[in-house]
Amino acid sequence: MSSSPPATRQRLLERLDSPVPADAAGIVLVDLDALAGNWKSLNRHVAPAACAAVVKADGYGLGAARVIPALREAGADTFFVATLAEARQARHLAPEATLYVLDGVLPGSAQALRETGALPVISSLPEAKDWAALAPSRNQPMQCAFHVDTGLNRLGLSGLEIRALAADMHTMDRLDVRLVMSHLACADEAGNAKNTQQRDVFHQLQPLLPSAPLSLAASDGLMLGADYHFDLVRPGYALYGGQALPGRITPVEPVVEAYARVLQVRDVAPGSTIGYSAAYVAERMMKVAVIAAGYADGTPRHLSTAAGTIGGYVAFSGKPAPIVGRVSMDLITVDITDLEDNIPERGDWAELIGPTITLEDVGMASGTIGYEILTRLSPRFARFYLGGPQPAARGI
Ligand SMILES: *Cc1c(COP(=O)(O)O)cnc(C)c1O
Repeated sequence: MSSSPPATRQRLLERLDSPVPADAAGIVLVDLDALAGNWKSLNRHVAPAACAAVVKADGYGLGAARVIPALREAGADTFFVATLAEARQARHLAPEATLYVLDGVLPGSAQALRETGALPVISSLPEAKDWAALAPSRNQPMQCAFHVDTGLNRLGLSGLEIRALAADMHTMDRLDVRLVMSHLACADEAGNAKNTQQRDVFHQLQPLLPSAPLSLAASDGLMLGADYHFDLVRPGYALYGGQALPGRITPVEPVVEAYARVLQVRDVAPGSTIGYSAAYVAERMMKVAVIAAGYADGTPRHLSTAAGTIGGYVAFSGKPAPIVGRVSMDLITVDITDLEDNIPERGDWAELIGPTITLEDVGMASGTIGYEILTRLSPRFARFYLGGPQPAARGI
């Protein structure tokens, strides 16, 4: 639950122009106009650098089929996905855009990747060779990005590999490097010395690399200052309304809200237990709402509580109500005793993510980050979209 004052923003739920079907037990609402506004706002924030859009993992779980056209209409022309399958879908939705595949070239997949017209983000020598091998001649080199490691030790060419590649004219003549990028390890901590170290290493590596536009920052990194922007920033989470850098306010609006229905309200007597393992013992007369939002819907089981412990919250009309007992597959139980004058009823919507309970709140309460909450919202929750371009006709 947010420590900031209760939001006065109108809930997306009230702004939907068609009623939610009676049989929907859980819903995710996506404000495509806010998404488009966020891209424009970040694009202004980083100017004269350019702003790409990271749409991997189905647009961070919100539905790439609606997210990509909305970002395109806002002006985004460079997209990052993780996998070849995501590249195929993105290519279909954004035929003219520049598309980068962060996973690069998997063994045996270079030809299939080429057919999407997407450019691999190359992180190793074997990938560079596989991709260069597709070049029909030295005069028709293959476009790609280079990912260089500056200290994350995840994907990326090492200093040794960069030197080896620079000396390998056969491969380099067949590659047309359109972007050189790296990724920060600690950009979610503004004061961490590792940020400046990685930025310095990125600068130091440049003389060894083909000259191309540079990119270092994602959602958190782009808030560290202009000296992290280089030519292109690569936000994902911030586009979807996430606040990636604690202590700084990223200039974006919330995009997503999630709600689930109250299936039943019950009275629980003192001494009775609630839910699996009888983990929660009622210490007083309680009113408990049973809500259709279990771990199969994306509610982390870590939000479970026993009496006396604090876990997760949902909210009704801006008032938080704590989860009591275990989170089960399809359900949670919530203490609504203290809502007094405004006791929810069967069929009412509990806010899981929204103006009262932010993505960051849920992430923190479950010992993870908002990113994981966002990308794990399950397809069992129907998506409803506000604003944005109409979806493309099916069956082309
Ligand atoms: C996922 C990813 C991003 C986007 O990160 P956010 O924190 O969501 O903005 C950018 N660059 C790389 C290499 C990534 O893997």
